[in-house]
Amino acid sequence: MGTLVIALMFFDQVSSTALLQSRMTTLADVVGQISTAALNFEDTKAAIEVLEALRSEPPVVSACLYDVSDRLFAEYKSGSAGPRCAQLRHDLVPTGSNYSRVVRQVYRRSELVGTLALTSDLQDVRKRRTHLLVVAGFLAVVALVVGGISGSLLQRRVSKPLLDLARAMVEVTDQQNFAARVAVKGSDEIGQLGDGFNTMLSELERRNLEKRKAEAELQFQALTDALTRLPNRRLFMDRLSQTLALAEREGRIVGLLYIDLDGFKLVNDSLGHAIGDLLLCEVSSRLQARVRKSDTLARMGGDEFTIILPSLSEKEDAALVARSLLDALVKPFLIEGHEITIGATIGISLFPEHAREASDLMRQADSAMYAAKRNGKNQAMYFRPELGLLVRERLNLETQLRGAIGRGEIKVHYQPEFDVASGRLVRFEALVRWLHPSLGLIPPLKFIPIAEESGLIVPLGAFIMECACKEATKWQSLAPFPIQVAVNVSSIQFERETFVEEVAEILRHSGLKPELLQIELTESVMVGSIERSAQKMMHLRSLGVSLAIDDFGTGYSCLGYLPNLPFDALKIDRSFVKDLNSKPEAAAMVRALVGLAHNIGMRVIVEGIEDSQQLQLIRQFAANEVQGFLLGRPTTEPEEQILLSLEQSTRHEKLQPSLEDSQRVHDILKA
Ligand code: C2E
Ligand code: CA
Ligand code: CA
Repeated sequence: MGTLVIALMFFDQVSSTALLQSRMTTLADVVGQISTAALNFEDTKAAIEVLEALRSEPPVVSACLYDVSDRLFAEYKSGSAGPRCAQLRHDLVPTGSNYSRVVRQVYRRSELVGTLALTSDLQDVRKRRTHLLVVAGFLAVVALVVGGISGSLLQRRVSKPLLDLARAMVEVTDQQNFAARVAVKGSDEIGQLGDGFNTMLSELERRNLEKRKAEAELQFQALTDALTRLPNRRLFMDRLSQTLALAEREGRIVGLLYIDLDGFKLVNDSLGHAIGDLLLCEVSSRLQARVRKSDTLARMGGDEFTIILPSLSEKEDAALVARSLLDALVKPFLIEGHEITIGATIGISLFPEHAREASDLMRQADSAMYAAKRNGKNQAMYFRPELGLLVRERLNLETQLRGAIGRGEIKVHYQPEFDVASGRLVRFEALVRWLHPSLGLIPPLKFIPIAEESGLIVPLGAFIMECACKEATKWQSLAPFPIQVAVNVSSIQFERETFVEEVAEILRHSGLKPELLQIELTESVMVGSIERSAQKMMHLRSLGVSLAIDDFGTGYSCLGYLPNLPFDALKIDRSFVKDLNSKPEAAAMVRALVGLAHNIGMRVIVEGIEDSQQLQLIRQFAANEVQGFLLGRPTTEPEEQILLSLEQSTRHEKLQPSLEDSQRVHDILKA
């Protein structure tokens, strides 16, 4: 608007000045023409009259007529203001900014007779300009007002929705509020923008929801065990720390149970990981069923579980819970048609008695669990300070055991076994010892569990069987009857896929007849799949090897399994024999076991006979074979033992009862 007005004013100024100029020129021409006569006749009066006619032309403020010699001839002035005429034309009043002057020469027939100078006032032009300025100012005010009003109208139409959008954006960004929406209606571009924005927010909200879900799932996965959906180690340690902090304040006793499954590895190795996984799930639900809602059951990984008992009224309660858990696990599992038996070992540590820190309690429960395992599995044990030492000692032994065979520190001793009826030596049991350079003779009960846990039992077992078979070939020429060798085989060895071939290879290698080898297995072969164990045993028997079940009565003792497993002999554990003289129920038990074994066609070997009275009883029960310190200790010189027993059997000394013994046996049997 401003530019337009300035341009207009400039144009107007130029054009009105030019118009004035041309008019003045015309006037000067006309007045000059008319003044010719007056100049000619030097009639000043007439000249003035002619000039007076200019009064009808308001812009002309003065007219000066000069004669040929440039002297002022006549003059006209429209008012008092305005410039006066100079006396000589040369002294023409200089044209000021307020006036415009036109000078014309007056000719009569091409003869110069004078000069006319017309001066016009530019006031009119200036007035016009002022007018125009006022109009422009007015127009500017009108433009501003109209602009303001239309601006605010536009603002309401355009800016407000945009501001709303901007505000919503800030809200979404700052507060992550994806539920925010803008209320912009209409079908124009702004409306479409609003709709688009809302659609975008819906999409963002949906994605945000998905992201949250995914995050929650990740969080869940980070804190739980994927297989059993139980809390994992991280979550467990967190809960344990919280529980301890609370117990500290409220003065409560907290129990921590560390559970390790016995024989799980066998299941995994023999039946596959899929079955192993299903078994772990089953185990977790059995455990879950035995603990309270307030207890935390977690899986540490592998076959290890842990439980927090957050509020024990007495510390003995932890053992009760542990016992109930062991009972829950001892019943066979039926998984995809496989009947699977496993056991568990539990270590227990207590807050505040054993430790105040979560990590210490865990370590202690773990130590207790290890100690319990070495003590014979399927049991629970409280932590004791000396157990920490035990674990260190164990690690130490394990390292040293690795090189023991190579250094020739592993020795096999042989303990004789006799036929009860004839008193004849029937076999030797191979019993391993570790002759440690500084610790001396280490008994098998101390290092066999370590060898089993570390897997060292495989090369160690093969070495022992090899020694025993080689040794047994030497005996055969010494006696007129065959002498067997019995070799203890750990379930870890037995479960190996290649076990039967390994035995066959050792037999071939040593040259021992298969029927002279008896393999002693413990009840732990029932752990895992019974069918597979039975199959493998059949395989061994088809080689000609005989099989005995060792330590019967100490482990799971599921009598129901016995008929399904092709054992030739049952070895009744020493613990029954120990109480034979003092506890009638022990005697009754042994008698029943002998009867049972005979009924299913198994021979019975009784171990741990330490006195003749025990021997007498066993004879009464019609057990087939006996072993014990009374008859012979484990020896490194079995050949001497063979010769000695040949002598004794001819004299029938050892196995003959004394009169006194017979009387005592009679009393026990009556009781
Ligand atoms: P086991 O198979 O029950 O072996 C019999 C154990 O009872 C032997 O102990 C033997 O010395 C002992 N014993 C025999 N008669 C008597 C007796 O009248 N009184 C007493 N108190 N003890 C008697 P040892 O040699 O210490 O072996 C302990 C266990 O170590 C064995 O129990 C067996 O489970 C294991 N073991 C021994 N040698 C081997 C082996 O070569 N391989 C495997 N896998 N385990 C073995
Ligand atoms: Ca044995
Ligand atoms: Ca035994």
